[in-house]
Amino acid sequence: MKCTICGKDDLSVLSRTLRRGNGTVYYCEDCDMGLLEPCYKDAKEYYDKEYRKKFTDDLKKPSSDPEEMFKLQSMFHTDRVDIVRKYFDKKKNFLEIGCSAGQFLTHVYKKFSKYVGIELDTNCAAFIEKKFGVKVYTDELDKCDFKGNKFDYIAFYQVLEHTSNPLQFLADVKKLLKKDGKIFVEVPNLYDPLLHLWKVESYKGFYYHEAHTHYFTKKALQKLFKAAGFKINKMYFLQDYNLYNNLYWYFNNAPQPDCVFGLSKPHIDFQDAYEKVSRKLNKLFHESDAKYKKILAENELTSNIFITASGEK
Ligand SMILES: [Zn+2]
Repeated sequence: MKCTICGKDDLSVLSRTLRRGNGTVYYCEDCDMGLLEPCYKDAKEYYDKEYRKKFTDDLKKPSSDPEEMFKLQSMFHTDRVDIVRKYFDKKKNFLEIGCSAGQFLTHVYKKFSKYVGIELDTNCAAFIEKKFGVKVYTDELDKCDFKGNKFDYIAFYQVLEHTSNPLQFLADVKKLLKKDGKIFVEVPNLYDPLLHLWKVESYKGFYYHEAHTHYFTKKALQKLFKAAGFKINKMYFLQDYNLYNNLYWYFNNAPQPDCVFGLSKPHIDFQDAYEKVSRKLNKLFHESDAKYKKILAENELTSNIFITASGEK
């Protein structure tokens, strides 16, 4: 296996444990990046037919139903929307690659002149077209025909780590981006707090994932974007799961049954008896979680890295 950024083939091993399937995660020291051989031959076939059946956000009640996915996830997009908010512009068009069941686009699609999606899962694509009237292409990026149209903004969240060749993917993105356009990108961070800070052993078997061919870091992203001819404008360190979810992992060496509590503002329902105490305690949970996330961000140890970048002229 060769590093897809620098081409080096002398790689060390990061993990032999994956969430599903078998595989070895390699590590390029020069790029500070993890790499895994893709588990599929045909990306379209894999993401349309297999992927959602294997991986779900609700461990209790696995579902690949777009409606369920939308309901479960659409309220957890505050960080992304807050970053993109200042680019809202009714004169500019927006392409979202990997738009899933529309969990992000529901918050922003009316803020641009035109919003277009790409999603390999045909059920999700049909769901979006019906619910929002947004056109969704179901082919891989390089096979979509936009009839010569280019975009002011292109976003892809939790997508780049799935691509077999991120450099090629960014080159394809660049071809579709207008001269003064901007891209919004989010990827999981290899320096995830549960992995590197809390060192939760069983989390390795959760974090490393057969569908993730790349495990990026700040350094890897800087090298990759530079090589692809993009200028990173800003890098944000975003933590999705809250302090109490992370503590749960630490003490139980296992995930919570679903993603709702962990991705929400931490709140415990103490029932009716202790209203005043309950209010104070929940305030404490919110504040401590906010501080926790701030400390992680300052130390670049968050679950995700978000980038805004523009094409180099
Ligand atoms: Zn490398």
